[in-house]
Amino acid sequence: MTERGINPAKGHLKILHPVSCIVHPIAQITHLPSKRPHPTSQISNQETALLLSSTQNFAKLTYSKPVLSFGLVPSLIYLTMSVFSEITHFGHEQILFCSDKKTGLRAIIAIHDTTLGPALGGTRMWNYATDEHALTDVLRLSRGMTYKAAVSGLNLGGGKAVILGNPNSDKSDDLLRAYGRFVETLNGRYITAEDVGTNVHDMEVIQQETRHVTGIDQAFKDHGDPSPLTALGVYFGIKACMKQSTGNDSLAGKKIAIQGAGNVATALCNFLKKEGAILSVTDIYPHKAESLAATTGATLVQPHEIFEVDADVFCPCALGAILNDKTIPELKAKIVAGAANNQLADENIHGEMLIHHGVLYAPDYVINAGGLISVANQLDHKSYDAAKKQIAGIYDTLTNIFKIATQRTIPTHLAANHLAEERLAAGASRTKGKIAFSGQ
Ligand code: NAD
Repeated sequence: MTERGINPAKGHLKILHPVSCIVHPIAQITHLPSKRPHPTSQISNQETALLLSSTQNFAKLTYSKPVLSFGLVPSLIYLTMSVFSEITHFGHEQILFCSDKKTGLRAIIAIHDTTLGPALGGTRMWNYATDEHALTDVLRLSRGMTYKAAVSGLNLGGGKAVILGNPNSDKSDDLLRAYGRFVETLNGRYITAEDVGTNVHDMEVIQQETRHVTGIDQAFKDHGDPSPLTALGVYFGIKACMKQSTGNDSLAGKKIAIQGAGNVATALCNFLKKEGAILSVTDIYPHKAESLAATTGATLVQPHEIFEVDADVFCPCALGAILNDKTIPELKAKIVAGAANNQLADENIHGEMLIHHGVLYAPDYVINAGGLISVANQLDHKSYDAAKKQIAGIYDTLTNIFKIATQRTIPTHLAANHLAEERLAAGASRTKGKIAFSGQ
């Protein structure tokens, strides 16, 4: 073994020019946690190592021939430097950059933490403004998956992947199959599923190249698409919030303002309507909001007006970072409970700000865990009813989080983090000195 755990004899190639990782077929950044041996890697040191791995399926790399020189690619140097500072900041185990020239695939798979089991998280396809945006997104989302799995009581770790490109024009079966081959190289350390920009059909294509796919169980509603069960979890979460705020969890006659009229919002509106809630909806695509309003009797609202709607609950089902300095003071609702990921623009500021404005916040990764619980049940060959039952438990998880937050006088998102971190710490001590999962 050579310095920093890099052993050319075992197929590891040291990068002489760090930037070259961006353009090689497989570039891996592996951060080995000190808590236990790494299940698949032959690297034994405790440091962060930047590696290139030449595997049987992909082009061999030349040890002595860097592809790019420093002087020509300042933005790539910046990217590489920021990769290290970001993975140190977020605590990731492994990042895989995937590039396939033939199909135009460019993807990043981020494995955040496998303490509790293999990293499960969807593949997002999105037209990112820059590569840095894609990296930041996948790092944040994969870390969120670790916390989501931990707080939901699942024996899974956190991971996520992004494919860079427009899902409407850049997606092809060949591209998805190339991506599937990269997933397969991780040997089960990462398991994928649907996310924004990918669907059940895409997962079936990816499955042609790898077993490590879920969210495609024909026995589940919509063939395993997680969205309807994410919506079910959000529905139970809103009820838990209502109970906490008013002492009664009935939503009959309660006013709920929903931002986004996509997959989750559509399924959610049906649950809410059945219980007699009064709905307002918006979307940046008017036809989507109009269609949802027409089928549910909801009132149509302009996107910029949704925060100020006279409502009991504001339900974000569109994008992240929508709870910020501008929007929190506008909020009329005293409950925020919805599906969107990363709702707090800044966790250090906006959780407290919500308390200051008298708003009860359902931490996003807790209330939107229904989809993850669904795909985890599919992975374990459990039934649709078993998944629904486990998802109903989101009500109790949130109630527990509100109790911790009250007892410790901390924001609810910190109480959720506390629960998740407790479970991770218990998992880490159980797996100390052992291999956490087989990777098969
Ligand atoms: P989707 O793409 O089907 O729907 C999102 C909708 O929000 C789109 O119709 C979009 O036009 C709209 N939108 C975007 N920006 C908006 C804005 N500023 N104002 C109003 N509308 C806006 O996505 P989805 O699957 O319904 O997921 C919704 C959210 O929940 C996403 O943030 C997603 O990451 C999160 N989430 C989804 C799942 C799932 O199972 N689908 C699971 C966990 C979390």
